[in-house]
Amino acid sequence: MEKEKNVKYIEGKGITLITTVANQKKLDRYKDLEHYKDILYQCGKCGTCRTTYQEEFWSRVCPSGEFGKFEAFYLGGKNLLSWGVSSGKVKWSANLSKILYQCSVCLACTQQCQIPEIHHYAGEWLMAMREQAVKLGLGPMPEHSRYTDHILMENNPYMEEHNKRLNWLPPHLNQSSNAKIAYFVGCTSSYREQNVAIATAEILNILKIEFKILKDEHCCGSPVYMTGQTDKAKNIAETNMKIFNDAGIEKIITSCAGCYRMLKETYPNKFGIKHEIEVMHLPEFLLEKFNKGEIKFDKDLNMMVTYHDPCHIGRHMGIYKQPRMLLKKIPGIKLVEMNRNRENAWCCGSGGGVRSAFKDLSEFAAKERIEEAKTTSADAIVSTCPFCLNQFKSNIKNEEIKAFDIAELVRKVL
Ligand code: SF4
Ligand code: SF4
Repeated sequence: MEKEKNVKYIEGKGITLITTVANQKKLDRYKDLEHYKDILYQCGKCGTCRTTYQEEFWSRVCPSGEFGKFEAFYLGGKNLLSWGVSSGKVKWSANLSKILYQCSVCLACTQQCQIPEIHHYAGEWLMAMREQAVKLGLGPMPEHSRYTDHILMENNPYMEEHNKRLNWLPPHLNQSSNAKIAYFVGCTSSYREQNVAIATAEILNILKIEFKILKDEHCCGSPVYMTGQTDKAKNIAETNMKIFNDAGIEKIITSCAGCYRMLKETYPNKFGIKHEIEVMHLPEFLLEKFNKGEIKFDKDLNMMVTYHDPCHIGRHMGIYKQPRMLLKKIPGIKLVEMNRNRENAWCCGSGGGVRSAFKDLSEFAAKERIEEAKTTSADAIVSTCPFCLNQFKSNIKNEEIKAFDIAELVRKVL
């Protein structure tokens, strides 16, 4: 039986709270590099951020470092580069910028560092460095600019037409034009993992939730924001907020980890777009319904699964428990953990602009995660993010293991 961990997480963040001392600097979040520069030099270059150590095993955690095999690709190296440019000792260059972008901003490294300020805030300066690269004209990477241009024209990064965004929508689906609840589908479920969109919408129908899908929904802005293009991402966010407000939306349900992080955290706290809309990730919403007795699962799946923590739900937002609890409620599901799980999970390699700009690194990360999943003997790897799902499905060869979104499994038993 899986041992429950007694770990304290920082509220609203997926990172663990480690011992703080009286004189520990409390830092504001989402600031520029200048704000963090004093603590960058606290990095002792010890290399602890490369591996996770948990009781009986050591394992690597940083896809960027393990693929790049050079100090600059690990957090310690990135800290030194960030300190170098912020103190004027290192000059910005196209090559330096490229190194910074060869990182999925998965934050697994920050978990391992035991220096409190680095543990708690390194994600902030990894993003601040990208912002700075963009300001200097050294970022983003050409692939990121290409999809950003497309988002600005057609509201999605997949080179698809906006007017095909709802092509997945089955005719039998009931929506209510007066609904205050929106299902925010996101680009990956709209164009690439349409099974997730169909399953989610059908679940909401079966549960008799009055909801609507906003036909003018834009990309949430995550691929733009995560590549340092903050101003453009903020404009996208403002457009979406206008669409929500015009439609009278009070609650948003999304089945995408990246969309969730953007709507719930980045819009208000980074972009300053304060809103009263309640944002829920689908597993959180379904678990709440289950606990109120409003869902009954009446089929048995007879399946062993392992759960992959998407970085944007796990370390970025602190949601580890709910998807696991929901999975365990599904009849016939046996959940087995990979060695690297929760805050120590190995990234699937798709986020932070890595999949579009650094295909080799992205595939390297995905294959390692798939191999790890296979060691559990699970029938399937389950995630709660269509981008992770699409990454797994693209990299699983010979059907040695299946991949599902949790919405697809829930739909099967309703
Ligand atoms: S970031 Fe932390 S763990 Fe990594 S090298 Fe620096 S001090 Fe060590
Ligand atoms: S954020 Fe992830 S990929 Fe980037 S340096 Fe840290 S562990 Fe490596």
